[in-house]
Amino acid sequence: QRKPYVAGNWKMWGTRAQTRAYCPRLLELLPPPPQRRADVALCVPFTALDVCLEAVRGGDVRVLAQNMHQAPEGAHTGEISAPMLTELGVHGVVLGHSERRRDHCETDRALREKLPVALAAGLEPILCVGETEEEREQGETERRLRQQVWEALEDVADERLADVVIAYEPVWAIGTGRTATPEQAQEAIAFIRALVADRSREAAARVRILYGGSVKPENAAEILAQPDVDGALVGGASLDPESFAQIVAAAP
Ligand code: 13P
Repeated sequence: QRKPYVAGNWKMWGTRAQTRAYCPRLLELLPPPPQRRADVALCVPFTALDVCLEAVRGGDVRVLAQNMHQAPEGAHTGEISAPMLTELGVHGVVLGHSERRRDHCETDRALREKLPVALAAGLEPILCVGETEEEREQGETERRLRQQVWEALEDVADERLADVVIAYEPVWAIGTGRTATPEQAQEAIAFIRALVADRSREAAARVRILYGGSVKPENAAEILAQPDVDGALVGGASLDPESFAQIVAAAP
């Protein structure tokens, strides 16, 4: 049985001051950890990571970064490595978000290097995949997902596959208010699970696959109720602790 997982991706929102105000409020709103049905995570800007870790201490909320370079160190101006994140005590890292693929040339090839590095460093990767609107219209959704999932996971050993969290985020549903229907989310996520099963059936049964794209308190329960949808990666609605806590509460 896979435990639901609800992660908030703040993207480039959240100063240190805002983080200090947000975290205690969220902890007040969440049920205490033993009564919580879902694992909860916050993916915050690099500059807020230490403040966030401190502010959620003891509250059983995971703190993740939003990107990581594959090299341990080197001449890569502006980049952050896995050892730098583990030194902070960060739980994991979002990899391959569509905004990074679009704006920062994040490629499947680079992700193939990043995933084993993150796992070896003890970081939980949330690998984001998803098709564009054009790809969906052209019937290319499965081909695109297959390419993204297979290439990114290629150098992850079978025994480690279930340590990766995958987020299906159709690009056309991100920040647009256009949520995938629960059926579309279920269909794509079941397809991704089958792709993992081609590598390892056992991993496919255990790997958690989240949906992301305009998840809000109003639509969360229906999406999270789908049999293959193991949680949500929430953008805009995670910036408000009330809304985010309501989404966590919607987990089955
Ligand atoms: P929105 O929830 O704002 O659509 O963003 C989704 C997302 O990209 C989460 O990573």
